[in-house]
Amino acid sequence: MKKTNTLIVGASVSGLASAACLQKQNIDYLIIEKTNSIGTPWRNHYHRLHLHTNKRISNLPYKKFDSAIPRYPSRQQVVDYLEDYQREFGIDPIFNTEAKGIKKDAVDWVTETNNETFHSRYVIIATGAFTKPKPVYFKGIETFPGKILHSYEYKTGSDFKGQKVLVVGFGNSACEIAIDLYEQGAQPSMSVRSPVNVIPRDVFGIPILELSLLMSNLPPGFADAINAPLLRLLVGNITKLGLKRLPYGPLEQIRKNASIPLLDIGTIKHIREGHVSVHDDIDHIEGRTIYFIDGKKQLFDAIVAGIGYYRDYEEFIEVDPSRFEDLKQRVHKQKYFGKDGLYFCGFWISPTGQIREIGLDARTIAKDIARKEKV
Ligand SMILES: Cc1cc2nc3c(=O)[nH]c(=O)nc-3n(C[C@H](O)[C@H](O)[C@H](O)COP(=O)(O)OP(=O)(O)OC[C@H]3O[C@@H](n4cnc5c(N)ncnc54)[C@H](O)[C@@H]3O)c2cc1C
Repeated sequence: MKKTNTLIVGASVSGLASAACLQKQNIDYLIIEKTNSIGTPWRNHYHRLHLHTNKRISNLPYKKFDSAIPRYPSRQQVVDYLEDYQREFGIDPIFNTEAKGIKKDAVDWVTETNNETFHSRYVIIATGAFTKPKPVYFKGIETFPGKILHSYEYKTGSDFKGQKVLVVGFGNSACEIAIDLYEQGAQPSMSVRSPVNVIPRDVFGIPILELSLLMSNLPPGFADAINAPLLRLLVGNITKLGLKRLPYGPLEQIRKNASIPLLDIGTIKHIREGHVSVHDDIDHIEGRTIYFIDGKKQLFDAIVAGIGYYRDYEEFIEVDPSRFEDLKQRVHKQKYFGKDGLYFCGFWISPTGQIREIGLDARTIAKDIARKEKV
């Protein structure tokens, strides 16, 4: 059994930020990570990935990205930044240690892992909002002879050169994967089930998230109404491209659905130019033929499903489920923030960038623990 003041579970962006902030508050902590490295999700993402949020608002507390790094750092540059961060703060995770059960006894939080048991006054859950890939299923999928991947398994379009690939979904990963496939010599199509919002990543050379920050105190519906004419001008009419538009704007979308609108880095242009075609939702699959619900059909060689992730904290944290409902709010609005010493870092989907929000969460949590320790 190991004892510490605060146990951090997960050593990626949220876990490292939490560790640095606890150090600044002189709080004793341990950090456990189920894999054998820090920032594992970023090591495993597809190769073309760059941050969609600009670096000025995507750094962790107390350390900026190097000035030589471009405005939108690459996946590898994010990994390098996280490694530098770990080194600079001397963060020393206990690797290959997965939290299997976390519950409160009369005094402490007790975290059972595959190795040992940890007792702590406080626990910070930093296991990620995008953890467990949603299962890929379509009627008739078992008859499809080609490769079927979830987007988390996709690495590079060069694996699909010359192939007809159907990308399912229209989130930021799906849309960048479609570009990557086209650039690497595949023929991508997209199957889009739901209505979407599209915003350009930059507006007149300024990152859109910087503008979003300026408006972050306005009610989302009001800010969307102000932005709507400009977005129409910049993005054009997406319904002419076979897409359905959500009846409310991007900020309302984040608030209502906890889903991120498309921060477009060129997919719309590729669709307009005919490099990427758009299909309706999949009805069923028969061999290589994919049938769509609008009655159209087409042959494909591979499917990449950009269909998102589930969260899995309910599987290993034993608390009243209302604690998880609370995560639909940013930390300082959470009803149960820090209740009994349990904190969550990095779960609220933010209109101004997830990494920026993680930094704010980590600072708020560390300050709250320090305040409680002084009492
Ligand atoms: C493809 C993609 C692109 C993104 N791009 C951006 C972007 O441009 N800008 C932005 O601001 N945000 C972006 N995000 C959102 C967010 O910033 C990242 O997902 C970020 O990695 C979240 O960090 P995290 O530490 O909260 O979670 P994760 O990075 O998912 O890390 C969770 C860590 O916890 C570990 N873990 C999980 N369960 C356990 C357990 N039971 N016990 C021990 N360890 C465990 C995991 O192994 C992992 O290391 C992106 C997300 C994705 C998926």
